[in-house]
Amino acid sequence: MRAVLLGPPGAGKGTQAELIRDRLSVPHISTGELLRSAVEEGSDLGLQAKGYMDRGELVPDDLVVGLIRERIAKNAERGFLLDGFPRNLAQGETLEKMLEENGLRLDHVVNLEVPEAELVKRMMGRGRADDNEETIRSRLAVYHEETAPLCDFYRQRSVLREIDGMGTPEEISARVIAAVG
Ligand code: ADP
Repeated sequence: MRAVLLGPPGAGKGTQAELIRDRLSVPHISTGELLRSAVEEGSDLGLQAKGYMDRGELVPDDLVVGLIRERIAKNAERGFLLDGFPRNLAQGETLEKMLEENGLRLDHVVNLEVPEAELVKRMMGRGRADDNEETIRSRLAVYHEETAPLCDFYRQRSVLREIDGMGTPEEISARVIAAVG
């Protein structure tokens, strides 16, 4: 299975990715986690990415694509669950090309739908470095402007599955697994 988890910040992509990975034993690739470890290690990439993340902006495409290209290539045949990538149309097109080169395509794109008030509540409760009010506001704005258009992109390709992201993590993962299983 080659799948993408899509949805606004705070929608629970990371939580769902872990539950699904355990259930379907498919490798989970999270750009947010990879970027946060690069920042922690203080690598060149981490130093370049940090400012964007602190401001709630997207890290430039070339940095993010460089970070995950090989991981995707390595798992392209076996399958993967992407969380946090793609996050704009250019990244969506890059991913499509990478897969097409190997005669592959995405099977499912799961869009987790959660009302904005709930997103803010979840992020404020999480307390990650970028979970402060100002950054949350920019991340939501970036989501609407850059990431939400991917819904149409994938709807046109008939791979979009819209899932209600309200409820307990287990209730939501049951819906996701029913949609992609
Ligand atoms: P959330 O979904 O809650 O915003 P993530 O862990 O997915 O959390 O992302 C955290 C930050 O990492 C984003 O605000 C952004 O700065 C950066 N980031 C993650 N994935 C990407 C990506 N595909 N392209 C650009 N920036 C990214």
